[in-house]
Amino acid sequence: MTAPYNKENFDLSPSRREGNGTGRLVVIGGGAAGFFCAVNAARLNRHLQVTIVEKTSRLLSKVKVSGGGRCNVTHALFDIAEMSKRYPRGQNFVKKTFHQFFTTNTIDWFGQRGVTLKTEPDGRMFPATNSSQTIIDCLIAEVNKYGVDIRLNTEVKAIAKEEGLFRLTFANGANLNAGYVCIACGGYPKASMFHWLEKLGHTITAPTPSLFTFNLPKHPITALMGVSVANAIVKIEGSKLTEQGAVLITHWGLSGPAILRLSAWGARVLATFNYQFKVHINWLPQYHEQSLKEAFRNIRSAHAAKKIVNDNSLHLPQRLWQFLLAQAEISDEVRWADLAAKTENQLIKSLVDYVVEVNGKTTFKEEFVTAGGIELNEVDANTLMSKKVPNLFFAGEILDVDGITGGFNFQHAWTSGWIAAQQIAALAK
Ligand SMILES: Cc1cc2nc3c(=O)[nH]c(=O)nc-3n(C[C@H](O)[C@H](O)[C@H](O)COP(=O)(O)OP(=O)(O)OC[C@H]3O[C@@H](n4cnc5c(N)ncnc54)[C@H](O)[C@@H]3O)c2cc1C
Repeated sequence: MTAPYNKENFDLSPSRREGNGTGRLVVIGGGAAGFFCAVNAARLNRHLQVTIVEKTSRLLSKVKVSGGGRCNVTHALFDIAEMSKRYPRGQNFVKKTFHQFFTTNTIDWFGQRGVTLKTEPDGRMFPATNSSQTIIDCLIAEVNKYGVDIRLNTEVKAIAKEEGLFRLTFANGANLNAGYVCIACGGYPKASMFHWLEKLGHTITAPTPSLFTFNLPKHPITALMGVSVANAIVKIEGSKLTEQGAVLITHWGLSGPAILRLSAWGARVLATFNYQFKVHINWLPQYHEQSLKEAFRNIRSAHAAKKIVNDNSLHLPQRLWQFLLAQAEISDEVRWADLAAKTENQLIKSLVDYVVEVNGKTTFKEEFVTAGGIELNEVDANTLMSKKVPNLFFAGEILDVDGITGGFNFQHAWTSGWIAAQQIAALAK
């Protein structure tokens, strides 16, 4: 394990200590994007004095908890156009940024520092150690190696630019000057928390949560908690939102990849619905109402004497099959031959168009992000520099970029942090 962050480890060259701040980069936020910007800038330009200011007492706290403590570093997708489709907001922006630093570069960057990543069957990539601490140790080792200064419990309250120099004011009233600033403060849940950034002349797209699950308070289907349907189609009434994939029934409602993707793509629409909407589920996507009627005819003639409950020819999870039969008031004794036409229609409807009313959301415990942030047309995707304030940079979730679950948010953090670092290191030469 790497030595923890330690000011005594610093090898600050005299040129790094001197000056009025022109040769200083202040990175605001000790998360993935902030660290990546800081360590790369310090490595690429040894004359740059790099400081990370972090408002809490902890560094890389999301890296630590992400992916259930394993850190889902990136995703094994190696085509930029395909990759960009995983970002409900910022698709065109990441298409440009990924040309400079992509998934392959992330794998190489960590690999060159002794961190091997492994790929899970669904494409998510984790450190081979299965521990997010490996990523943290690697980034802390870089901080120590390149003498990045870290100030904890230091919240930036204001930034002003005077005579070409940034002047940062902290919550305790202290100030720090810098020639370059990279804002990597992550997403904020409330619009009011962005005011200090708006004062720089930037526009904020209102924050909205993304990556959440759907609540079905007191709905009887929640009794099936733990049941997962590998392939269902889920549609949200009153919108064009539709997703196909695995759906998991939980004790509070619906979760699973298809639901999380819907929550990401629909983050803004679902917020306007105040998280109250109807969901239509087709548990058997290979069928629609008409084709399922025909399938039923075949099953009935082939299995006429069999009890329906014991003849799950449609291969649904048995508990879900029993639940849908019970909802259609088909008792355990009913045989296919005895199924009344009206009851059959009701069953077919609930198999291909099961409607539930969602009331509320629950934040996905494995991963959540905030949609919204700094408007992208105010930031140059080639440099990550503000188009409004020269030498001001942005990286990570503070930008109006967010991905679906699977390592896409971290990839954006690495990419944007790296590009900003590259630019700052070059400008400061
Ligand atoms: C539980 C959880 C699990 C996740 N799992 C995954 C995953 O598996 N894969 C994936 O791709 N994404 C995951 N994400 C999303 C991912 O963690 C974030 O998108 C990513 O961490 C964003 O990095 P960031 O550096 O931009 O922001 P953050 O990690 O949020 O870091 C920002 C830092 O800035 C600090 N800060 C804020 N304001 C100030 C200020 N004014 N002054 C000083 N410091 C400030 C904050 O305290 C924070 O430490 C997960 C998120 C959560 C919450």
